Amino acid sequence: MQLAMINDEILPLDKLDSAYLDRGLYFGDGVYEVVRSYEGKIFALDEHLARFGNSLAGIEIEDVNIGQIRKKVIDAFETAKIHNARIYFHITRGSALREHNWDDHIKPNFFLTITDLPDFTGLKQKGITVSTQPDLRWKKCWIKSLNLLANILARHAAAAKGCDEAILVDDAGLITEGSGSSFFAILGRGLRTAPLTANILGSITRGYVIKAAENLNIEVIEKSLSPDEAKNADELFLTVTTKDIIPVIKFDDETIGNSQPGPITKNLITEFLKFTK
Ligand code: PLP
Repeated sequence: MQLAMINDEILPLDKLDSAYLDRGLYFGDGVYEVVRSYEGKIFALDEHLARFGNSLAGIEIEDVNIGQIRKKVIDAFETAKIHNARIYFHITRGSALREHNWDDHIKPNFFLTITDLPDFTGLKQKGITVSTQPDLRWKKCWIKSLNLLANILARHAAAAKGCDEAILVDDAGLITEGSGSSFFAILGRGLRTAPLTANILGSITRGYVIKAAENLNIEVIEKSLSPDEAKNADELFLTVTTKDIIPVIKFDDETIGNSQPGPITKNLITEFLKFTK
């Protein structure tokens, strides 16, 4: 008898919910997106869907109609009626008995949740602390893959040091990005961030922050920084869809800008929010 056991329950394999056979669960064999809404309006959906399409192509999940995904996201958002929502969705390659290689006829699984976003105003006023951790991820970080083990372990190691985010440092000693965010520094009047390579995610917020900087006549330099350069920066901040721009007030043991969010970061937050209206 072929069977499965879920915690203490034994059941015949043919009675098992196919969700337990999802290749996302076995292998992280899928890709995801996180989109948010501001006051009832979804922000940058086209950009997120374009990245989702690229991620799907990057892991050879074919024949997904992005127009249909857009419709699913909008239908769910309209049903949820949450003004400031976090919309998470993923597609996995599908469900099958565990086998590394896949059958080309496997049918992808779609999954989505919509939840309330907390108010991050306090966090933005106060700023957060970060800890550097080695970047142990794979070489295709441009794919928004469900495989986030290296990211979550780095975040956990940072949390063990009392920090909110891990800043990943590659083998060359340069900062790539946060475990779940992009990383920026203000040096004088210039904005520095790592260039878009395969080693970082093409963050949607990053693109809008660069536009906001250009609107404010801030020079943008896409060149990786070392942790020492970051420690000596005038201001530091992180960006991510759910929180847009979050000031960093401590980098490892070094205090940044008198432990206060900096003036240029604050201007960028104001400028960024104009895009969301
Ligand atoms: N970098 C990583 C590794 C991430 O996981 C994320 C978001 O989850 C980001 C950057 C920020 O990307 P986005 O601005 O598209 O949310």
